[in-house]
Amino acid sequence: MFLHNLEYFAPKSTTETLELVSKLGNRAKILAGGTDLMVVMKAQAIKPECIIDINGVQEFRTITCEPGKGAVIGTNAKLSEIQFSAAIQAKYPALAYATGEIGSSQVRNMGSLGGNSCNASPAAETPTPLVALNAKVVVSSVSGERELPLEEFILGVRKLALAEGEMLTKFVLPEPAPKSACRYAYMGRRDAMEIDCVNMAVNIQLENDGETVKSVRLVMGSVFPRPLISQDVSALLVGKKLNDDIIEKAAEAAQGEAKPIDDIRASAEYRRDIVKVLARRLLKEAYAAAKGV
Ligand SMILES: Cc1cc2nc3c(=O)[nH]c(=O)nc-3n(C[C@H](O)[C@H](O)[C@H](O)COP(=O)(O)OP(=O)(O)OC[C@H]3O[C@@H](n4cnc5c(N)ncnc54)[C@H](O)[C@@H]3O)c2cc1C
Repeated sequence: MFLHNLEYFAPKSTTETLELVSKLGNRAKILAGGTDLMVVMKAQAIKPECIIDINGVQEFRTITCEPGKGAVIGTNAKLSEIQFSAAIQAKYPALAYATGEIGSSQVRNMGSLGGNSCNASPAAETPTPLVALNAKVVVSSVSGERELPLEEFILGVRKLALAEGEMLTKFVLPEPAPKSACRYAYMGRRDAMEIDCVNMAVNIQLENDGETVKSVRLVMGSVFPRPLISQDVSALLVGKKLNDDIIEKAAEAAQGEAKPIDDIRASAEYRRDIVKVLARRLLKEAYAAAKGV
C-alpha cells in the first residue's frame, strides 16, 4: 500500500491551478479530498506522474447561496460543509441529506462535492440529487470556461466530458421553482459505510393550482452507468393530479427503465424491486412537500 514516486504541486490560486492543469495534462491528477484517489493510487490501480493538490485554493471551497439566486458551490466544498450549511439545508434539503449519508464524518470532512462527481462511480450519492435539481457544472481551462448540465458531464463509469487541460471548478444550482420539492433516498446496508445499491431523487413542480404536476424529474443512481433520468415517469405524470394508482404506475415505469447489473452489493433483480419501492415513496413525499402538506 505504498505510493509510487510522484511530483506534488500545491497551487494557491485558480489561475495557478489552471496553468498547472494545462502544462501537466494527463500526466497529473487533481487531489481534492483524496478519499477516492488515494484508494486507487495505493492499490496501484493508477500511477499518475504528478498530483495537483487544490486544497490551498480558497475559491474552490466557497458556497454562495443568495435568496432568489440559486447556489454556486466550489468543486472542493467539503461534503460536511454542504451537509451542515443552513442555506443549503433550507433550499436544497435533498442535497444536504445526500451529502450527510456519505461514508463517515472523517470521509465527509475530507471528501468534496466535485470529487464525488469526477470519480464517476454509478453508485455515487450526490450526482443523483444534483441532476434532479438541474445542476450545471462549470469546466475551466486556461482558455476560459464552459457550463454544461451535470448529466452531460458524467458520461459513464470513470468517464467524464473533460478534455485534457480542463478541470471542474464549480456547480451552479438554479433557484428552486415555486411550488416545488425535491427528495432523495437510497438503499444500502444499514449502519455500515456501504456504497448504495440503489439511490434516487425526485423533483416535482406543481402548477398554480397547487395540485397538478407541471414537471417531474426522477433520477436513478446505481442502476445504469451514469445518473438515469426517467422519461416515462415524466410522460405519465405531467398534467396530472397524483393519487396512489397513478403513482404505482409511475413507479412501475421507473422500474422498467432501470438497467441494473448483478454485483457484490446486490442482484439486478433486487435492485429493480428497490427502484419501485423508492420511486413510490419519493413521488409521494415530494408531491406532498410541493403541495405544502
Ligand atoms: C470509507 C469510504 C466510504 C465512502 N462512502 C461513500 C458513500 O457512501 N457514497 C459515495 O458517493 N461515496 C463514498 N465514498 C467515496 C468518496 O468519499 C466520495 O466520492 C468523495 O466525494 C470523493 O471526493 P474527494 O474530494 O475525496 O475526491 P478525490 O479522491 O480527491 O478525487 C476523486 C477523483 O476525481 C478527480 N477530481 C477531483 N476533483 C476534481 C476536479 N475539480 N476536476 C477534475 N477532476 C477532479 C480526482 O483526480 C480523482 O480522479 C467513500 C469513500 C471511502 C474511503
